[in-house]
Amino acid sequence: MSAMQNQRQITILGATGSVGASALDVIARHPDRFCLTALAANRKWEALLDLARRFRPPYAALLDTKAALDFEAAVEREGLPTRVLAGVDGLLEVATLPEADTVIAAIVGAAGLAPTLAAARAGKRILLANKETLVLAGDLFIEAARSGGALLLPIDSEHNAIFQCLPAQAPSGCKPAGVRRILLTASGGPFWSRTQAELAHVTPDEACAHPRWRMGRKISVDSATMMNKGLEVIEAHWLFGCARGEIEVVIHPESIVHSLVEYLDGSVLAQLSHPDMRTPLAQALAWPERVAAGVSPLDLAQVGALTFAAPDRQRFPCIELAYQALAAGGSAPAVLNAANEVAVGAFLERRLGFLDIPDVCAETLSRFPACTIASLEDALEADRAARSLARGLTEEHPLTA
Ligand code: NDP
Repeated sequence: MSAMQNQRQITILGATGSVGASALDVIARHPDRFCLTALAANRKWEALLDLARRFRPPYAALLDTKAALDFEAAVEREGLPTRVLAGVDGLLEVATLPEADTVIAAIVGAAGLAPTLAAARAGKRILLANKETLVLAGDLFIEAARSGGALLLPIDSEHNAIFQCLPAQAPSGCKPAGVRRILLTASGGPFWSRTQAELAHVTPDEACAHPRWRMGRKISVDSATMMNKGLEVIEAHWLFGCARGEIEVVIHPESIVHSLVEYLDGSVLAQLSHPDMRTPLAQALAWPERVAAGVSPLDLAQVGALTFAAPDRQRFPCIELAYQALAAGGSAPAVLNAANEVAVGAFLERRLGFLDIPDVCAETLSRFPACTIASLEDALEADRAARSLARGLTEEHPLTA
C-alpha cells in the first residue's frame, strides 16, 4: 500500500483552541501520514477561516449558526473546497463522518460530551483531550467506545503518560493486572506558594499565567484552583479502571514527569518530556508508531533536580471535592463540573473571587440530589440543573476578590 493510502483522516473538534493549534502543528509536519477531513469550533469563524485557507479541509462546522453563515459566505467568496455545517447537528455530523477514522476531541467543557460520545458510537479512533466527557458520563462513554469499537487514546498529558506506562493493548476502562496504583503529577499551578490570604485577591490574568503550560483560559484557572487535577482523577478512574484509593496526586513543579504507574512488584514507570502538548498529540496520532513532534530533546542535566511533594488539600480543596464526587458517583461528578464551569466563568468575568470557586462547587454538590446517569440526556439534564443552581449561588456569593 502507498503512504497516501495509509494516511489517517482526521477531524478536530475544537480546532481553534490551544489543543487544536498543537494538533495542527503536529499534523502539518507529517503530510504523508495525516490528512484533515474536518475542523470544528464554536463561533470564532475568522480563526476557522485562517485554518480552512491553510489546510483546505473538505468539511468545517461551527456551533454558532450566525458565525457559520459569515464563515460560509467567506468560504464561498474565496472559493475554498470546504462544506460548511452548523449547529449541534453540524458538530455531530463532523464527529461521525465516514471519511474520517480519527477524531481529536478538544472542545472545552461539557459542550464536548455529545459529539465525543457520537464519535465513540461511530467507532472512531478518539484522541481525547475533553476530560469533561469522562467526568459527565464516564460509564456511558467507556461503554459506547466498547460497543462502538472505538479506540481511546488519551492526550491529556498525564493520562497519555499513564497510557504509555501501562502494558500495550490494555483495554480502556480495565485496570491491567499487576498495577498497584497511578500517580498523577500536578505542577501546583501558578499559586502553589501563595498563602490563603493572598489567594483571596488573585486576578484572572494571574490565574491564567501558568508557569509551565500555555493553555486555554478555563483550564488555566482549573489548574490554578487544582480542580483540573481533581477532574483528572475522575478521568483516570474511567480510563484506567482504577478505584479512588488507587489514584494519588503528587505535586511536581517542574512538569517533566507527566505521571507514573506503580506495579505490584514495586516498579514505578514514568513518562518524561518537556511540558508541550505536541508530545502526547504526536504519540497518540502515530500510535503504535512514533513520529517527530517538533519538541526539543529533553536535556536532563540542564533540568537538574526533579522535585515532588504532597498536595495541600486545605489551600486547594478542589482536589478533595473531586474525590468526594467520585465516591458519591452517579450525577455528582457532572454536578461538580457544571458548578465549576459556572464559577470559573464568573471568576474570569470578575464577578466572583478565586476562593469562591471551591465554595460554589461544594455548595452545589451538597444541595444537588444525586441521580443516576444512564443516558446522554441524563448527563445533559444534570449538567443543566446544576448550572442553574450554581448560577444562583454565584449571584448571591459575596465577592472576596
Ligand atoms: P481552548 O479554550 O483553547 O479552546 C476551546 C475550543 O473549543 C475552541 O476551538 C472553541 O471554539 C471550542 N468550543 C468551545 N465551546 C464550544 C462549543 N460549545 N461547541 C463547539 N466548540 C466549542 O481550550 P483548550 O484547547 O485549552 O482545551 C480543550 C480541552 O482540552 C478541554 O477539555 C481541556 O480541559 C482539555 N485539555 C487542554 C489542555 C491544554 O494544554 N490546553 C491539556 C489537556 C487537556 P471557539 O474558538 O470558536 O470558541
